[in-house]
Amino acid sequence: MQILVIEDERELRELLEYGLSRLNFKVTGAGNANDALIMVEEAVPDLILLDLMLPGLQGLQFLDIVRRKNQTVPIIIISARTGEDDIIKGLEHGADDYLPKPFSMRLLEAKINAALRRAGGAPPSDRLTSGDVAIDPDSRRASVAGESLQLTQKEFDLLSLFVRKPEKVFTRNQLLNIIWGYEAELVSRTVDAHVAMLRKKLGSRGACIKTLPKIGYLWSAEG
Ligand code: CA
Repeated sequence: MQILVIEDERELRELLEYGLSRLNFKVTGAGNANDALIMVEEAVPDLILLDLMLPGLQGLQFLDIVRRKNQTVPIIIISARTGEDDIIKGLEHGADDYLPKPFSMRLLEAKINAALRRAGGAPPSDRLTSGDVAIDPDSRRASVAGESLQLTQKEFDLLSLFVRKPEKVFTRNQLLNIIWGYEAELVSRTVDAHVAMLRKKLGSRGACIKTLPKIGYLWSAEG
């Protein structure tokens, strides 16, 4: 998740960049709204944190310009102006939320995750990764090095389980119970067949699924 921070106070901007990157967001900083407009033009971030009082183009003007072209990118205002009129004005100009300064990182994180959820993106903690294999449980999508995989439900469940528990040995019976339940008279060949297909679809990452002869399987990030 890419966050653009527009804040002219350098110390605060750097603090936000540091704090948010520790929460696994990718953060870009802009010291003024003019630079920020160019950045948004090049690539729309997943979320924008916007200070109001800026040198040159003001925060509300920035909002107007961005909202003319993009109605959906979540924008949270961070401002020392804390009057009700200011907050209402910000929301009327198209901000999704308004966070009065000073604020804690905890509150900021909660606001960001809530805004991303409303926008349909999952908070970063929900995404599973192992090397360049990425899984989004909410949308049930998986990818290798950015290339999305076409997986069946069972293959997706298998991959999620493996990636969640790297280096854990799963016997065929355990996999049958966890993924298939007791729904049918399944034999362990079912597991083997699904693992074989999943391996094939994972391409070079297929080697991450190790076979333990006569036992079962495990996921190893090294591949
Ligand atoms: Ca300012």
